Amino acid sequence: MRRHSFFVRGMALAMMFSMVAPQLLEARYKPKPAWNLFSRDQEVQIGKETSAEVEKKLPLLNDSDPVTRYVQKLGAQLASHAPGQQYPYTFKVINQKEINAFALPGGPVYVNLGTIQAADNEAQLAGVLSHEISHVVMRHATAAASKQALAQAPLAILGGLMGRGIGAQLAQLGISFGVGSYFLRNTRKAESEADLVGTGILYDSGYDPRQMAVFFDKLGKESGSGSRAAEFFSDHPNPGNRAASVSKEVATLSAKKYQADSAEFRSIKSTVAGMKPLSAQEIAALQKQAGGTMTAAPSSEITPSSTYKAMEHDVFRITYPENWQVFGDNSSSVTIAPKAGVSENALAYGVIINAYQPEGRASLDDATHQLLKVLQQADSNMKAVGHDEDIRVNGVPGKSIDLLNVSPIRAQDGGTQRERDWLVALGRQDGSLLYLVFVSTEKDFDQMRPAFERMLRSLHLK
Ligand SMILES: [Zn+2]
Repeated sequence: MRRHSFFVRGMALAMMFSMVAPQLLEARYKPKPAWNLFSRDQEVQIGKETSAEVEKKLPLLNDSDPVTRYVQKLGAQLASHAPGQQYPYTFKVINQKEINAFALPGGPVYVNLGTIQAADNEAQLAGVLSHEISHVVMRHATAAASKQALAQAPLAILGGLMGRGIGAQLAQLGISFGVGSYFLRNTRKAESEADLVGTGILYDSGYDPRQMAVFFDKLGKESGSGSRAAEFFSDHPNPGNRAASVSKEVATLSAKKYQADSAEFRSIKSTVAGMKPLSAQEIAALQKQAGGTMTAAPSSEITPSSTYKAMEHDVFRITYPENWQVFGDNSSSVTIAPKAGVSENALAYGVIINAYQPEGRASLDDATHQLLKVLQQADSNMKAVGHDEDIRVNGVPGKSIDLLNVSPIRAQDGGTQRERDWLVALGRQDGSLLYLVFVSTEKDFDQMRPAFERMLRSLHLK
């Protein structure tokens, strides 16, 4: 009997399992932010300070605008489902045509009007906002900055720095979080994490998480250097297989009926369809007029030291003056510059190293001119002077072009001063270009040139 009852109980258990098994869900993704030097309160403070700076430069819709009011309501609803540490989220709409969105540490979230125009349904817009909220939850920007800071100073020193007022200390470390800041550009890993956390937020708020992936994939299909989503993918690089990984995460959650578009969303969609937001180029022109400027640093802080050290990047190796810094990592575009030569949105001294994929099959010459056009679109003051020249760097054929520009550093009389840019584009095996833009004020260019040339001579493509 005893045996029998065991057997029966075993059967019952087995049956119970087989009934439950189809609904036994894998655990949903648990957000675990990476190691971070900053406290939550410091992040909130950084977010406040940076948003004040950012908002001076970007054309925002009014807080009383119906579009802003709608986004704030939707954002607040989503943020109320944000997991982990809580932040004071704010939501604002930038009157910009290109599709983009970004979040500052500690809660400020910005979305371009173009993103709302491009969203096919409310879940897609909610998807973008949830993805941005997730970057805040995961503390991606401050974690990246922490990593950079640690590479620059021993923890003991940093600990002391971080305890005091934070703004000046961050500046000392060359860290800022404004528009165009390196730390707001996410890694593919950060992107996957933001998609996973965003999936949970959408699900808990009643929106279909798969629409977030649908929207990103739709943008991805049109992404290219000139596309309206180019900036989005520069800040939020495609981690690949978005739809599949979101679907997999959705499968860990029980089935649910998602909500349809609200009447408010439909009304806002027809409002934004009639609006004419500014292009990035128009905004850049406005910023130039307003004078996006840096203060001149003493030359001792700029002058390249004569000792060089090496950087091993995934696609190249270069040596650079020991007293300059690398902003970026082994797989991203990098800026190598003296700390005092960079600000959140401008480079006054140093070099940018990046890759460019030309349209179609282009000769080195064509590819270089396509690249030049793209650079000039982004910076309308950039003008080529003289002719481009053929050049070889350690056996690799390339083109060299001298450019004139306007320096972000004001002249002593408060007027503008000229900048000299030296563009070197090298052909890679796969038809893309690796290019370098060396930057200095015109008056200091001759003094910087030997360092620029030495860096270029040390460059080896992999
Ligand atoms: Zn992202």
